[in-house]
Amino acid sequence: MKEKNKKGPRFDLTWIYVIIAAVLVYMFVSGNGGLFSSNSEDATYDEFKTYVERGYASKIEANKDKCVLEMRVVKGKESQVFKKQKKDNDLSNAYLTVSYPSNETLQSFIEEQQETGNFTGEISWHEDTKSIWYYLLSNLLPLVIIILIWLFFMGRLTGGKNNSGGGMGGIFNVGKSRAKLVDKDGADKVTFADVAGQASAKQEVQEIVEFLKNPKKYTELGGKIPKGALLVGPPGTGKTLLAKAVAGEADVPFFSMSGSDFVEMFVGVGASRVRDLFRQAKEKSPCIIFIDEIDAVGRARGKNPAMGGNDERESTLNQLLTEMDGFGTNSGVIILAATNRADILDKALLRAGRFDRQIHVDLPDLNERKEIFKVHLRPLRVDESLNLDFLARQTPGFSGADIANVCNEAALIAARHDKTAVTRDDFLAAVDRIIGGLEKKTKVMTVEEKKTIALHEAGHATISWHLQYANPLVKVTIVPRGRALGAAWYMPEERQINTKEQMLDEMCSLLGGRAAEELFTGHVSSGAMNDLERVTKQAYGMIVYMGMSEKLPNMCYYNNDEYSFTKPYSESTAQLIDEEVKKMIAEQYARAKAILADKREGHALLTQRLVDEEVIFAADVEAIFGKRPWTSRTEELLQEEKDSQKEEESKG
Ligand code: ADP
Ligand code: ZN
Repeated sequence: MKEKNKKGPRFDLTWIYVIIAAVLVYMFVSGNGGLFSSNSEDATYDEFKTYVERGYASKIEANKDKCVLEMRVVKGKESQVFKKQKKDNDLSNAYLTVSYPSNETLQSFIEEQQETGNFTGEISWHEDTKSIWYYLLSNLLPLVIIILIWLFFMGRLTGGKNNSGGGMGGIFNVGKSRAKLVDKDGADKVTFADVAGQASAKQEVQEIVEFLKNPKKYTELGGKIPKGALLVGPPGTGKTLLAKAVAGEADVPFFSMSGSDFVEMFVGVGASRVRDLFRQAKEKSPCIIFIDEIDAVGRARGKNPAMGGNDERESTLNQLLTEMDGFGTNSGVIILAATNRADILDKALLRAGRFDRQIHVDLPDLNERKEIFKVHLRPLRVDESLNLDFLARQTPGFSGADIANVCNEAALIAARHDKTAVTRDDFLAAVDRIIGGLEKKTKVMTVEEKKTIALHEAGHATISWHLQYANPLVKVTIVPRGRALGAAWYMPEERQINTKEQMLDEMCSLLGGRAAEELFTGHVSSGAMNDLERVTKQAYGMIVYMGMSEKLPNMCYYNNDEYSFTKPYSESTAQLIDEEVKKMIAEQYARAKAILADKREGHALLTQRLVDEEVIFAADVEAIFGKRPWTSRTEELLQEEKDSQKEEESKG
C-alpha cells in the first residue's frame, strides 16, 4: 500500500469508465423524471374522453401521423388529471399523452364536445415534422456530450507536458513517444571536442561510434556490438552531453527521452510509448536512443507480491526489455541510458544483451576541471591574466554543469560592472555564489552572534590544521550566505578510497565547531546542527557499512533491497551499533576538545581575526599556527598563490 500512497491519486481510464457508467445508470433508472425528462403523463383514450367531457381540457395537439395527442389541462384541475405527484412548478406545463384509435374518431369526438360546450379550447392538427435526424440527435446527444467531457479530461491530463500535440490532437498522441529528435544535420551538433575530460568514458563509447559509422566492419567478422550501455554518474557530469557527442561523432540521429516521460497516469501508455519510440528509431536506423533518468522506469520491481507494486511502471519496464530483446544486434539502434544509481536498477535491465556494460562518468578531477573550463571559456571574452589552474583549484567537487554555470555567472557579473573582459574576481564571485547561494548583504548579525560564529568556524579550522588527514583548508568565512551561517572551505583531496584515519580526522574537525563553543563559551548553539548530522551519518556509515568498529569488524550490513523493512541484523546487533556510534563520536569529540585546549591561544587569535576581517585564508592560519608538518596540496596551493601574486606585482 505504501507504494501506492506515495504516488498520490492516479487518474487512469478506470475513472472515466466509472463516470460514464454512473451517468448511464442514472439516466436509465430515472427514466421519465430523469435528465431528459418531460412533464408528460400517459393516459388511455377512454380516460382522455372522460377528462374532456368533464371540461378539464384546455388545449389539444394531435399528431396525425402517429395518432398521438397531447392534452393541456385547465388551470386548477391538474390534480384531477395527473396521478403522479408533481411539484407545483411542473404542473403549469404538464400535459397528457394519449394514443387515439384514428384521426376520424378523434375529430368527431372533439366536434361533439365543442358543440356541447365541454371543450372550448383549440385543437391543432399537425403532421410528423420531427425528422429521423431529430430522433437520432436526441438519442446521441448525451453520448456526444459524454465523449466531449472525456476528451476534455484526457486533453487536460496529458496536455500539460505535451507540447507536440496540444488540444484535441493530444488525446490521440497519448501513446506516442515524446522523444526529442536531434537530426544528424542539426545546428546544435555536439562532438567529443565539446566533452572535456572523461577520457575513459570517451574511450569506451568510441567503440559505439565506430560501429555506427561502419557496421559492416564488425558484422563481417561476426563481432557483436552491445545493444545498450549505461552511463552511470552524478547529475551534471555530462552524461547527456556524451550521448549526444556519440551521435554527433557517428553522424547519426539522436532520440532523447527521459525515463519519467514514459510514466503517465494512464495505464498502458508507458508501454505504448516505448513501442513507438523503438518503431521511430528503427525507421531512422542507424541511430542512438538516449534515455535519461532510466531509474524512473527501471527501478527494481517489487519482490513482495503482496505489496501490489506499480503495475504501470512494471509493464513499461517489461515492454522496454521486450523491445531490447526484440531487435537484432545488427539493426543499428544503440541505446544509451543514464542514471546516477545503477544499484537500484532492476537486475533484468543489466543482463547480458541489454545494458550489459556500465560506463562511469565521474565528477571531474583537477585537470579535467581545467579542460572543462577551457570549453566553457571559449565563448567568453576573458581577461588575459586569468589563470585556468587557479580556477580549477577553486572549484573542488564541482560538476561540469556547475562549471558551465560559474562561467556564465562570471560573465553576467562582469557585465553588471560594465567591464570589457571577465576577470579573476568575477570568477571568484561566481564561485562563491554557486557554492553558498547569493551573498546576502542585508542580513544583519549581532556582535554576539558574530563572535559565536567566529568561534565555531575557528574551531573547525584549528582542528583541521592539526590533523594529518583532514582536508586542507582553503578559507574560513563568517559572511552569511544563503542558509548557512559561516563556512570553512576545504580542498578535498581527490581520492577514491578513504582510510579509517582519514574519516576519523574528518569527523574530528567537523566536531571542532561544537567543541570550541562548549569549551570557550560554556554553552552550545544550534549552529552545529549540520555538522552533527554529517558526523552521525558518517559514524553510522563507518560502522554499519564499512566494518570499521572494533566490536563489529569487517561486517557490511548494506541492504539495497528497496522493499525490505527488516534490518539485516539482529536487535542486539542494533544495540551494539548504537553503542559503537556513540563511542566513536564521543572519542572524536574528546579529541577535538583536547586539541582546542592545547591550541587555545592560536584559536583565540584566529577567532579575533575572523571577527575583524570576516574572511581569512590558509596563509593567515599558517601565520598563526605555523606550517603543517605534512606536505599536502595546501602547501602547493599557497605556493601557487604567492607565485601568482608575485607575477601580478611584477606586471604591475
Ligand atoms: P547529465 O546528463 O550528466 O546530468 P548534462 O550532460 O546534461 O549532465 O550536462 C549539463 C551541462 O554541463 C552540459 O550541457 C555542459 O554544458 C556541461 N558539462 C557537463 N559535463 C561536461 C564536460 N565533461 N565537458 C563540458 N561540459 C560539460
Ligand atoms: Zn560547523
